[in-house]
Amino acid sequence: MGIPKNGTFLQNVERMVAKTVRYLDLPPGWAEEIQAPDTTIKVQFPVQMDDDTWKTFTGWRCTHSEHRLPAKGGIRYASIVNEDEVEALAALMTYKCALVNVPYGGSKGGLRINPREHSVGELERITRRFAQALINKGFIGPSDNVPAPDMGTGEREMAWIVDTYQTLKPEDINYLGCVTGKPVDMGGVRGRTEATGRGVMYVIREFFRNVDDVARTGLTGTVAGKKIVVQGLGNVGYHAAKFLAEDDAKIIAVLEWDGAIVNEDGIDIDDLRQWIDVHGGVTGYPYGTYHLESRKLLTYPCDILVPAALEGQITVENAADIQARLVVEAANGPITYEADRILNERGIMVIPDFYANAGGVTVSYFEWIKNLSHIRFGRMQRRLDEFRAAAIVEAIESATGKEIEAKLKHHIMQGSDELSMVRSGLDDTMREAYQEIKETFNEHNDIVDFRTAALVVAMQKIANTHKRIGL
Ligand code: NAD
Repeated sequence: MGIPKNGTFLQNVERMVAKTVRYLDLPPGWAEEIQAPDTTIKVQFPVQMDDDTWKTFTGWRCTHSEHRLPAKGGIRYASIVNEDEVEALAALMTYKCALVNVPYGGSKGGLRINPREHSVGELERITRRFAQALINKGFIGPSDNVPAPDMGTGEREMAWIVDTYQTLKPEDINYLGCVTGKPVDMGGVRGRTEATGRGVMYVIREFFRNVDDVARTGLTGTVAGKKIVVQGLGNVGYHAAKFLAEDDAKIIAVLEWDGAIVNEDGIDIDDLRQWIDVHGGVTGYPYGTYHLESRKLLTYPCDILVPAALEGQITVENAADIQARLVVEAANGPITYEADRILNERGIMVIPDFYANAGGVTVSYFEWIKNLSHIRFGRMQRRLDEFRAAAIVEAIESATGKEIEAKLKHHIMQGSDELSMVRSGLDDTMREAYQEIKETFNEHNDIVDFRTAALVVAMQKIANTHKRIGL
């Protein structure tokens, strides 16, 4: 049987790998092993609802690769989750971690549920039962497998998971590292919630620093003034849009599940987000034109398109009509394999998901390190830094006889706190990975897209690990 027109999510990831393998010097059979998911478990468990009825839930967790441990990847709550999707997302995690030098294997979990249909109490009982099932099977733990938030989950669910883990494993002194994306007062790290969206902004900044890449797209200048369309104003989309707007980009359209808002003068992202929080969607938002068929707006004229909602959004049906010059995949798998080919042929640059949205796992890595070291970043050296900087400022002022301007002095004398260290580490990671991708892209005349170049980089690193320790 041939692959259907747009293929399943996993088939799309597999086709991407198949396209890349010829650029790698791998022993026979290695590509298949790197690509194949190691283990996928399916769990089913009953939970009592508020009306005293019982409902059975189905969830999956896939460990795609354990070439490095722990394996890392989010837990998604959505009514359409299935095994294929979880395995595809786990594979992307393996490549993502390798690409951005985060020393983890790849994993992903999913629970088939519509969170909007449940009370907070029900969601807590469901999450705790799901976590219990995964912990008992060795699929959650600081040294084996560390989940994080994804679509439909956030720090609230991560807090329930860590508490369930601690209850079941009270002897584990590193219990806080069993999950990332926790609230800061439960072992989370400052800057994690916004990390994926902030990472998307850092990626776009780095793109504009590379004038040859910018020239290939036909764009010019910086992100300031660029017209951007964002699909999905959830965790990733909201933060990406907010930080891009802070860089003076114009968010001219936001596409949500119940419709889209277009405003050529730029949308006030915080205002729209607040509207969604109160009303459940964009419908009725007064500052822009409402369109019911949200997905059609993916082809709206703009400079940069940021799909930040779901997989399979740009397909063979709409790829020929995309008008953006740059597409940044903030979501996982928003462009199908065939659609990606069409965009490449049309000279539209695509920054691939397993690089563009790697900010989340990068800051999760920082959080996990914080949990294992049992100390907040900056706690030991912040005041020391300030003390030394003050001494240098004093020496400069007394040597020159001039006082340094107050704002600059304050800036120089500020010690590094956790948030500034996390942001610096994230920025550095995203910039370094961009350059690694670009180097491979430039080395191969026949690689025409950043996705293939990024996958060559990632798979080569995974293969190097296997060369040292065996398959
Ligand atoms: P989220 O649940 O916070 O937000 C998703 C948003 O998309 C919501 O606002 C939702 O209403 C909207 N949406 C749902 N269906 C839609 C539709 N048909 N059209 C338009 N919008 C729709 O999820 P998130 O955490 O922001 O994740 C979004 C994507 O980013 C997913 O692909 C996820 O795997 C990926 N991702 C998330 C993280 C993270 O740290 N949260 C990290 C890496 C990748």
